[in-house]
Amino acid sequence: MHRSEVTVDLGAVRRNVATLLRALGGAELWAVVKADAYGHGARDVGVTALDAGAHALCVVTIPEALELRDELPSARILCMGPVPTSRELAEAREARIELAISGDEIPEGVAVHLKLDTGMGRYGLSELPQPTREVVGLMSHLATADTDPAFAREQIDRFDEATREHAHLTRHIANSAAALRIPEARFDAARCGVALYGLSPFGEDAAADGLEPALTWRSYLAQVRQLQPGASTGYGRRFVAERPTWIGLVPVGYADGFRRDLTGTQVRVGGELCRVVGTVSMDSFAVELPAERPIGTPVTILGQGVAAEAHARVAGTINYELVSRISSDPRRTRRVVVDG
Ligand SMILES: *Cc1c(COP(=O)(O)O)cnc(C)c1O
Repeated sequence: MHRSEVTVDLGAVRRNVATLLRALGGAELWAVVKADAYGHGARDVGVTALDAGAHALCVVTIPEALELRDELPSARILCMGPVPTSRELAEAREARIELAISGDEIPEGVAVHLKLDTGMGRYGLSELPQPTREVVGLMSHLATADTDPAFAREQIDRFDEATREHAHLTRHIANSAAALRIPEARFDAARCGVALYGLSPFGEDAAADGLEPALTWRSYLAQVRQLQPGASTGYGRRFVAERPTWIGLVPVGYADGFRRDLTGTQVRVGGELCRVVGTVSMDSFAVELPAERPIGTPVTILGQGVAAEAHARVAGTINYELVSRISSDPRRTRRVVVDG
């Protein structure tokens, strides 16, 4: 048995694409597969999303874009991050990668999307320059589509006003949250990431938006032992048994992407939800068992009813961060792709 195994179900990705396309009512879906598709595998997810009806892929770095280009000679690929060197610019031109531009200089010989800052206060131009002939799209990014739709609508209005006279260009501002719940954000295309993977952009139950998590992360009980009252498990003695307590050790830790602040969250051992107790180590964590369980009992860390959103609440973070940080090191984590 492997220490842990990540399974990505491309069937779920396909169904999430269909759900998003329905929500978009005719606008294009651009699949955001940056950060190795939020830990799901950019190549597999990219191919699947396009096959299921997505129109383009979005990444953040030129190396990410080039890797996809090798696999997908004719796909539209947009690099949303800054292009740091002239060498990368030449590579992008050569590989027909489209670029998001936030600076005053518009490069030549490459299709670009001018990015406007309408309230995110991050990348983006404060005023739209006259589009050159390289410009194929106008874009912006929403700061609060998940938490404050009123502010998102202000951004959408600003974007609409600033870009209205260029309606022949592709206009895009929506992310997953806006695509699902703010119809005015659709314009010509939406750049969706997290929802593609069946995760809720709102940190809620993903099923509420018809989404299906694509990733399952499993391990097993590598050690089972009983702690006597007063005995502890793990660094810092953060869990001390008050009564005889069965503990299972799962060979997954923060170096695998199971964060140290996930103490207290629940994973599934066999069929039962069990609490993570004590300090999460680099290579393992402990669960409190209701009774003795055999070594080798399967443990579901994520998926099959164990929601990334629930872990995120415990760790004070978002589902995005949890999945994108699962280790892709094949010496630690085995990856399996299925199409269910
Ligand atoms: C990551 C990203 C997205 C996708 O956001 P989700 O919330 O995952 O849908 C869209 N646009 C830009 C510019 C991004 O950086």
